[in-house]
Amino acid sequence: MSFKDFQFHPTIDAGITACGYTIPTPIQKEAIPSILAGRDILGLAQTGTGKTAAFVLPLLERLLTGPRKKVRALIVAPTRELAEQIHENIGRMGQQTNLHSVVIYGGVGKGKQISTLRAGVEIVVACPGRLLDLLNEKALTLSSVEVLVLDEADHMFDKGFLPDIRRIIRLLPKNRQSLVFSATMPGEIRHLAEEILNNPVAVQINHTLPAPSISHGLFRVATDQKTSLLKNIIKEREMTSTLVFTRTKHKAKSLALQLERSGFNAASIQGNLSQQKRQQALDGFRDGTYGILVATDIAARGIDVTGISHVINYDMPDTAETYTHRTGRTGRASLTGQALTFAGHEDSKMIALIERNLGKKMVRETTPTLAPLAEEDRREEKRENLPRHQAPRAKKTDTAGQGKSRRDKACAFDFGTRKTYQR
Ligand code: AMP
Repeated sequence: MSFKDFQFHPTIDAGITACGYTIPTPIQKEAIPSILAGRDILGLAQTGTGKTAAFVLPLLERLLTGPRKKVRALIVAPTRELAEQIHENIGRMGQQTNLHSVVIYGGVGKGKQISTLRAGVEIVVACPGRLLDLLNEKALTLSSVEVLVLDEADHMFDKGFLPDIRRIIRLLPKNRQSLVFSATMPGEIRHLAEEILNNPVAVQINHTLPAPSISHGLFRVATDQKTSLLKNIIKEREMTSTLVFTRTKHKAKSLALQLERSGFNAASIQGNLSQQKRQQALDGFRDGTYGILVATDIAARGIDVTGISHVINYDMPDTAETYTHRTGRTGRASLTGQALTFAGHEDSKMIALIERNLGKKMVRETTPTLAPLAEEDRREEKRENLPRHQAPRAKKTDTAGQGKSRRDKACAFDFGTRKTYQR
């Protein structure tokens, strides 16, 4: 099957070609015909399956006819990163359609978002909180919405957004098409889906299994040797685009700095960063400036970077589900990828859970002989591995971005994250 079989309008076919897509992914094959036919969809699909194009392409096709400069499609996403990515996808796939989208989320000024809305858009991609703010301020109305998309609905529930979602839905016309996507289906999401969807088509793509194109390796390693092991395997295996997960924000930051001190191009992305700094780290990872990105689970949600070769669980994930989310960042859209997990003796239970979920054993890797850490790194490791009450108090950080490391200075720029597509 090829994209031609969907018989999209030539302007949309041009967008598909611009994205470099030739063969639809399984979720696209299943969902696109039903969405084009106007049906509601309940899609059980994790990130990395191509679900964004599965809803964006038929959405653009629908909006080609009908009024312009009215909000006719609303896409709600739980994180700023995911909202940005969907908006960027719309920009790429719809580059010849002359349709306009705006991305709306908190943590940045409202001015640009409001002025873009005033100029007239057909598609709004939004996080719930800021959308409700702007609705209260009458910066937009949802009375013309024909299509609602809820993306990563399970994550909306995790973040406590369901009351906001229900508030938003009450403001939508009853007569509309609704599409709900979720990686998992807890009871609360099932109820929400029942409330929102009208006779939906269920589309389910490997919802609990990581993509089959990923291999899974396991290293047994003591806590104070993890950093040495990480440096060793990044070098030995010539890793190019590597996403490293740590449990805490502090560790993400300090590990990236240690890697940088050892000559690796590394950045971190964690909840303490401003939106500009997060975007700068992400953009740098995407364009190859940073070969290594160290992230916490929350910060990494929705990261969409094609070609991530390795995902490394420096710290074990808390649940088998989190393992799936983390490792789903590699091997996307059927590219191959490798997931490597560092584990101590205390992690045996979690390994068993993950392996049950995977339906197979992770490959036991041989831990190489490790070089001792440099003195500065050794001291830092020791400090970090102290029990919390013995740990020294953190120094105040330089929020103005002056007088610190090279990266801190670089991050003080405004990288213009509030992009809108005006074609
Ligand atoms: P998503 O699940 O929407 O986050 O998509 C995962 C990745 O797959 C993104 O980088 C997309 O650009 C890419 N992708 C989506 N559809 C296709 C396709 N049909 N062929 C190749 N890559 C695709």
